[in-house]
Amino acid sequence: MTSPCSLFLKQLEGLTYHESLPLAPYTTFKIGGPADVVVFAHNEADVLQVLKAAYQTQTPLFVLGGGSNLLISDAGLRGCVLMLGGLLAEIKVDDSGQEILVGAGASFPKLTNTALKLGWKNALGFCGTPGHVGGAIKMNAGTRLGEIGEVVQEVYAATLDGLKVFQKHELQFSYRQTVFPAHTVITKTRLRCHDASHLHAAEFLKNAEELAKKRKATQPKLRSAGSMFKNPLPQFAGRLIEATGLKGTKVGDAEVSTTHANFIVNLKHATAQDVFALSQIVRQEVYKKFNILLEYEVKLVGSFINDKNEKL
Ligand SMILES: Cc1cc2nc3c(=O)[nH]c(=O)nc-3n(C[C@H](O)[C@H](O)[C@H](O)COP(=O)(O)OP(=O)(O)OC[C@H]3O[C@@H](n4cnc5c(N)ncnc54)[C@H](O)[C@@H]3O)c2cc1C
Repeated sequence: MTSPCSLFLKQLEGLTYHESLPLAPYTTFKIGGPADVVVFAHNEADVLQVLKAAYQTQTPLFVLGGGSNLLISDAGLRGCVLMLGGLLAEIKVDDSGQEILVGAGASFPKLTNTALKLGWKNALGFCGTPGHVGGAIKMNAGTRLGEIGEVVQEVYAATLDGLKVFQKHELQFSYRQTVFPAHTVITKTRLRCHDASHLHAAEFLKNAEELAKKRKATQPKLRSAGSMFKNPLPQFAGRLIEATGLKGTKVGDAEVSTTHANFIVNLKHATAQDVFALSQIVRQEVYKKFNILLEYEVKLVGSFINDKNEKL
């Protein structure tokens, strides 16, 4: 049988790729079916090649970072999933210690640790957040203490017109959101901290350890994708969900965490559909009680069945 992506595959010469690769191992939920093709890009030229091939053959393209903010459907993804590594996972600090050039495929915790050691106060805001740098930029990852967008100076990306540099103001960083044009893959970013203090680096690391301890105590240890819903500020999604009495509610092996109500956890063998169905119950119950429709923070990728048995 010919691959649904055979035209696309022909254009992947020189690249590393796998067909029908299960995506669950690449997500923090450990849930998700196979992608038709997974390509591993090691540098910007690889990314441009994949981007152009996908566009020319009308193959859907999805960029997977650390998979820590995703619910990938049980049927998996049609088309191509792109993962970044190699030169795109490098972290380079300049001599002043005030600038970092980092690849989108680098570990976000590793970057955070580098920034904390340099005394970057802003890094306290996003310490403890998993994933890769590209995903963190796209999601403007962070907490009430700070977000990655605060230290972004410019973002390098592969586009159909070649490599492009986006200035921070073009990307409209806001609460768990940025604006990138379609067909854009983040490849690197230049970060700058204006009040880095080497003197306070040790103190920041101590603060970071305390924050990590606090996160451990207040967040579930089970597999999840972090907060399922955005906070409908000034309200907090977790408090609204808790007030509906949904903590501990289950669908299959998916559970509204008993530790933090805004986390849905995979107890062991939850399917994506279990998690989705449970998230729909949460939204309905919160809406009934508070007239607030929670917005997903976790990205739902692929197809799901809603409570009216409709395929979404
Ligand atoms: C235990 C736990 C705790 C968490 N705590 C926090 C927290 O405190 N604060 C917070 O903000 N988040 C938190 N999260 C969510 C998650 O870690 C962040 O959103 C993270 O930044 C996502 O990065 P990722 O690389 O895993 O992205 P993924 O989940 O892989 O992808 C997220 C989105 O980014 C896109 N993307 C990824 N890479 C690229 C790229 N190179 N170019 C273009 N698009 C790209 C994807 O296509 C997708 O749309 C938590 C998650 C977990 C599991």
